[in-house]
Amino acid sequence: MPMPFMARTPLKPQRPKLPSSFPLWRSTRADLHGTNPPLKNDPVGDRVNLLGLDAAGLVNLCASWGEKPFRAQQLLKWIHQRGVSEFDAMTDLARSLREHLAANAEIRAPAVISDHRAADETRKWLLDVGQGNAVEMVFIPETSRGTLCVSTQAGCAVDCRFCSTGKQGFSRNLRLDEVIGQLWWAEQALGGTTAGAERQISNVVFMGMGEPLLNYDVTLAALRLMLDDRAYGLSRRRVTVSTSGVIPMMDRLREDCPVALAVSLHAPVDALRDQLVPLNRKYPLDQLWSACSRYLQSAPRDFVTFEYVMLDGVNDSEDQADQVLRWVADLPCKFNLIPFNPFPGSGLRRSPMDRISRFARRLSDAGIVTTVRRTRGDDIDAACGQLAGDVRDRTRRTERMENKIIPIPIERPAALH
Ligand code: SF4
Repeated sequence: MPMPFMARTPLKPQRPKLPSSFPLWRSTRADLHGTNPPLKNDPVGDRVNLLGLDAAGLVNLCASWGEKPFRAQQLLKWIHQRGVSEFDAMTDLARSLREHLAANAEIRAPAVISDHRAADETRKWLLDVGQGNAVEMVFIPETSRGTLCVSTQAGCAVDCRFCSTGKQGFSRNLRLDEVIGQLWWAEQALGGTTAGAERQISNVVFMGMGEPLLNYDVTLAALRLMLDDRAYGLSRRRVTVSTSGVIPMMDRLREDCPVALAVSLHAPVDALRDQLVPLNRKYPLDQLWSACSRYLQSAPRDFVTFEYVMLDGVNDSEDQADQVLRWVADLPCKFNLIPFNPFPGSGLRRSPMDRISRFARRLSDAGIVTTVRRTRGDDIDAACGQLAGDVRDRTRRTERMENKIIPIPIERPAALH
């Protein structure tokens, strides 16, 4: 019986063959989307980018072509588990389906603009996401694991005071093909899906550019693909979403897809956190504590990781360590202290190492597992808080912040959580 889509005529000519060895191509049509790019899967011309479809989306696409659901499963495995981008190589699909795919679909990750390798083997890629925007992705190899740090937005609207991404303003949410495309592409770049090779990416952290919970639907779809055994098969414990504290979305994530949680804390009292993480004015610390506590009821790990950037003379005193201890109270947690990575115009300095050590010791002595993040990729600006692609800033923040450094008033109110 002929395949139903055989009735469709004529098939369109195939686009020029992409390099088969490695998908390091530049998109030639990335700017055809106009000034208001759609947030969902974004076909270029009339080809659908399969990286922009989750498992259900592939089933729907196959159904629309008169194909059975198991074809969607086969596609899912070819694309995400095996990292194949050429339809011709998908040998368990009928030839007619492969030809139809070649004419009507594509597998296209964001184009790579640059690839930097640091002395410590940290890799940083700059990815073109169109309309003058570029985002960054970092791979951090360690002895027992390899961590990929992905971006979810071009820029960020939260505007944390110590963050170079926030300083660039906000352009738009990334689409699913642009978020999962980072993992898909990095897998190929690191050789992890070639036959017999061990996958180098064991962990994924949503700690790149953007606030993932403000691009919730795309973050959720990407998480589900990462966890799907037919795709990347990552453990929930090895996928971490980091948030500045978008409380309603923390509650939704707890229901929809609980993975490991990291929270950008950075200050133990509202007056200071309002300055460092402006979202705190909407979701203050007492609400954040409760949201973390609720999240732990479903979390795959029995603790929350708090990120705390160490800023000289701002949030790094031993008194403030005591305030942190009072705030976390009986919330199971770990602390990751991050020496600040200065960037031009921040007006902030990194805390001296001896003060960071004293702060860490204070937390450790109280029984909280505390690590001081080793700065990785310093020589390629890939360290935490240094990710800054190119953002067509729709908030005009960069313009307003030009040469304007606002002092942070340090208040220490007595009322603590
Ligand atoms: S720290 Fe995160 S939430 Fe804050 S501005 Fe930077 S990217 Fe956005």
